[in-house]
Amino acid sequence: MTKNGLTMSKTTKFIFVTGGVTSSLGKGIISSSIAKLLKARGYSVTIQKLDPYINIDPGTLNPYEHGECYVTEDGAETDLDLGHYERFSNVPTSQANNVTTGTIYQSVITKEREGEYLGETVQVIPHITDEIKYRIKLLAHKGNYDFVITEIGGTVGDIESLPYIEAVRQMRWELGRNCVVVHLTLVPYLAAAGELKSKPTQHSVKTLLESGVQPDIIVCRTEKHLPESLKNKIALFCNVAPSSVIECIDAETIYDVPILMRAENLDIEILKKVKMPCNTEPDLDDWIKFIYKLKNPLSEVTIGLVGKYVELKDAYKSINEAFIHAGAVNECRVIVKSLHSEFIDESNVAEKLSSLSGVLVAPGFGERGIDGKITAIKYVREHNIPFFGICLGMQCAVVEFGRNILGFTNAHSTEFNKTTPFPVIDMMEMQKKIAGLGGTMRLGAYPCRLKKGSKVFEIYKDENIFERHRHRYEFNNEYLEAYQKAGMIPVGLNEKDNLIEIMELKGHPWFIGVQFHPEFKSTVVNPHPLFVSFIKAAKDYAAKHTKGSKKS
Ligand code: GLN
Repeated sequence: MTKNGLTMSKTTKFIFVTGGVTSSLGKGIISSSIAKLLKARGYSVTIQKLDPYINIDPGTLNPYEHGECYVTEDGAETDLDLGHYERFSNVPTSQANNVTTGTIYQSVITKEREGEYLGETVQVIPHITDEIKYRIKLLAHKGNYDFVITEIGGTVGDIESLPYIEAVRQMRWELGRNCVVVHLTLVPYLAAAGELKSKPTQHSVKTLLESGVQPDIIVCRTEKHLPESLKNKIALFCNVAPSSVIECIDAETIYDVPILMRAENLDIEILKKVKMPCNTEPDLDDWIKFIYKLKNPLSEVTIGLVGKYVELKDAYKSINEAFIHAGAVNECRVIVKSLHSEFIDESNVAEKLSSLSGVLVAPGFGERGIDGKITAIKYVREHNIPFFGICLGMQCAVVEFGRNILGFTNAHSTEFNKTTPFPVIDMMEMQKKIAGLGGTMRLGAYPCRLKKGSKVFEIYKDENIFERHRHRYEFNNEYLEAYQKAGMIPVGLNEKDNLIEIMELKGHPWFIGVQFHPEFKSTVVNPHPLFVSFIKAAKDYAAKHTKGSKKS
């Protein structure tokens, strides 16, 4: 029993992943790779991200700040690293898997206001650090996991990361052998000197030591192989065994990293530290097959991704990864061509879209770039190019169809035009009611019933599906009959609230708009069926129109 009253029914092992030297070294990918390797050995694993910023969650952060906002089954708006955790481990995450400094302080201040500290002076140590430790243990307690991997956001030495590193120091004391600290650093190659340099790693380990944390394993990001002598030097200066210095060389794809880490024995090093058996091999057959297909495609398609953040690498992370999963299933290389919706108009749409084999119109908020999305949808609808609309993408397809087929002049979503004569997309009554409370979005997984005989029913091979949501606006059911009669068919329904979740266009080879976010559920082991089918349709389209197909 811990101080916070959490009973652990088994001895969970805790792995902390810290980062040094610079940000963007890929702590999320290393954490996900460790999870994959441990899971492939039959252990139950979860991963948690501790983010040192003060926002309560990334839901309010603009994609320029923080890339994509990933949504979990239970409706938490989280860091995009949770997407990697799910894609690699195939284990769903939840609200408890992402903790920010904002949430930590919020709960400590609430407790203080409620008098829970009985007049104590509330301080970073022990109150904030206790709350951090509680969040880590809570996750272990909830899932009864063999391993909890906790990634500490930021870089050691950052002022805002200090309470987290202090919590790691304290947990180390409490947990003894049931705890491993993996420190990820950079070993830069200086072209002028023709050498790999270990000094930044030495300094970042020193910084960690100043906070009382000795790493057990040092993972070195590098663009060139680390010679044995350099590994030995890092081991000597940083107080670890040479076998605990792990090379992490730049990989062709992030999906290579678990295999590279296996080859470097990172999983064995971890298991040895926590005294767990390590004499078997992890089962990575499916993973290896996936990588083979990914790297040896038999054909190629170019898909247009129409959005307003296309210049940002991470803004549509889950969509790009879902394309990779679906491409591998189809043994087809998916080239994603980013198209900025703000720069698409009637005069250039043909030039921009005619050579594509499929177009995905991305989710989003705000009016910027809406006209370009609608223009792109009109073009692909009229030219039978496979179309996939996600959330705002589906809403734009409804607006386009209303304006150009049903003759609803100036039809729009009330998100962009409050006084439109045809509010074909509108805010639901139940969302309006909660608007004053701040939590106005429909978030997380909801059930959806598919219409038998529809294309989506054929794709999912199931009548009942669960998909994740992040939106405020919905198809306006007042127009349902008009759409249905004209050939845009509602084929997915949330029966409880009578909400249209999927629209399909009759007579078009592949035109599907979904109000939810299928990209959040695509993993290496379970590629999302809608993405798989969309790429298959793009392949078929490319085969018929030679311009889009190189090898097929
Ligand atoms: N802005 C739209 C809404 O809130 C769509 C949101 C999205 O694409 N995630 O309904």
